[in-house]
Amino acid sequence: MTFDSDQPRANPASVADDLEEAGCPPAAKADLPRIERAVREILFAVGEDPDREGLRETPARVARMYAEMFSGLFEDPRVHLKKFFTEKYDEVVLVRDISFNSMCEHHMLPFMGKAHIGYLPDGRVVGLSKIARVVEAVARRPQVQERMTEMVADLLMEELQARGVTVVIEAVHSCMAIRGVRKPGSMCVTSAMKGAFRNNPSTRAEIMTLIYGDRR
Ligand SMILES: [Zn+2]
Repeated sequence: MTFDSDQPRANPASVADDLEEAGCPPAAKADLPRIERAVREILFAVGEDPDREGLRETPARVARMYAEMFSGLFEDPRVHLKKFFTEKYDEVVLVRDISFNSMCEHHMLPFMGKAHIGYLPDGRVVGLSKIARVVEAVARRPQVQERMTEMVADLLMEELQARGVTVVIEAVHSCMAIRGVRKPGSMCVTSAMKGAFRNNPSTRAEIMTLIYGDRR
């Protein structure tokens, strides 16, 4: 079973609903005034005048943006996997092209791309949108792509007790495009294979064909 997913971002209200249902207290929030003060300070430090007209609203705007980009820090991605269905389906489930935006923790610059997530259920099947929500929660924090890939794979293995999980993430990093080596357009691909996908070469080949087969 393969799904192409270009899911819109999980909206914050429904994430809050999920958290409440799972018995989590209302999430803490980023400290907006503190971010504002810091951004104002950065503007001074780079040689700008934060009080000139064009910049006056910038610290507040950046604070709201950071609160959004890092909202995953106040969310437990596990919550989205607690509601699974018991289903006698034991073939691969693949959700392809889940788009995400994250923030590289080394440069605080965005990296963005797509996640492809496959698993071999062992009785537990989860709603497709929940998988996208997990990606979202893990992406919305200071992150590195390698860790993000592992985190999503481990979460699915643990919560669904799947026979196997594959996570492939393809992303473009703005920190590589606009600074340092300046290589725009290069794509970073990471993968994590667990259980049957790690141990069984033919299962592994099957999932890679499902992910890439008709595109190469
Ligand atoms: Zn970076």
